[in-house]
Amino acid sequence: MRESKGRRSDGTESATRRSGGASRARRALPREPGPSLTRRGWTSLVTAICLVVAAGVVGLGWTGATTARPGRAVPQAASGLPVQQSAPAESTPAPDPSASAQPSSTSPEPKKSPKAEQSSTAPAAVKIPKHGSGKYTRATTTKIPKPKKRGQIIRYAVKVEKEVPVDANEAAEFMAATFADKRSWGGDGSLTFVFVPKGEVDVTAYISTPDTTDKHCLPSDTGGKVSCRNGAKVALNANRWTQGVPHFDGDLVSYKQYLVNHEFGHFIGHGHATCPGKGKLAPVMVQQTHGLFGCKKNPWPSPKR
Ligand SMILES: [Zn+2]
Repeated sequence: MRESKGRRSDGTESATRRSGGASRARRALPREPGPSLTRRGWTSLVTAICLVVAAGVVGLGWTGATTARPGRAVPQAASGLPVQQSAPAESTPAPDPSASAQPSSTSPEPKKSPKAEQSSTAPAAVKIPKHGSGKYTRATTTKIPKPKKRGQIIRYAVKVEKEVPVDANEAAEFMAATFADKRSWGGDGSLTFVFVPKGEVDVTAYISTPDTTDKHCLPSDTGGKVSCRNGAKVALNANRWTQGVPHFDGDLVSYKQYLVNHEFGHFIGHGHATCPGKGKLAPVMVQQTHGLFGCKKNPWPSPKR
């Protein structure tokens, strides 16, 4: 069934949520950590965010018909949810990167994973302004192949804030390619993400300046560093989109695939996960922006598929 959960026009970023059947908007806010804070600060931030997110997410079983009602973002304190990171985080690598786009330099883990295909391209030093106008360019690309619709249909739009030097169409094509991979969420036939160039959608990805991202993520505090999923918005901090995080060893492609799968994963009801053991692949719902916690980076929900 096509769930047309109460679709809202994507442009509506406001907090208005309609109550009607909206399934889409699961409003919990997840957040993604970003680099640059001091490790501790970062950790705390992330933890707080996770809590929030998890809280919102937990309990929402995603069934096709589920509904996600638009609830609002839950602010920080959530009850007990699976939060991961914390302690381990400290041991992880991490210098603070973000601000500087540096590629692979730091790698915490002993093994440097082979970078993904194009990843060799070290994140170029793209300068992202801290503040933006809040105005967006919506992707209208026609280069995305129509996916075979299987399971629940989730229609999404992609928008890039005007001041951010990222091409909206390329970003949309990247996301679509990620969703089309059988290792992504729809690989089991349970759902299909469908890119929509105009009109209403279930969820919109916004690649924005740090300040605008923070606004999208309120009431959670993303500190100008991380990304989040807030209701029907997947708010991606442009610094993360263009620079990734140091512990991905310069593998920006993998990092972006991770970001897409992780944040949209929240939208379809997934909460955070923890690293299952040293050296294992990190579940995609581990907050890998924050650290790998002994695991290996992994952008896919089902890496073995
Ligand atoms: Zn998250």
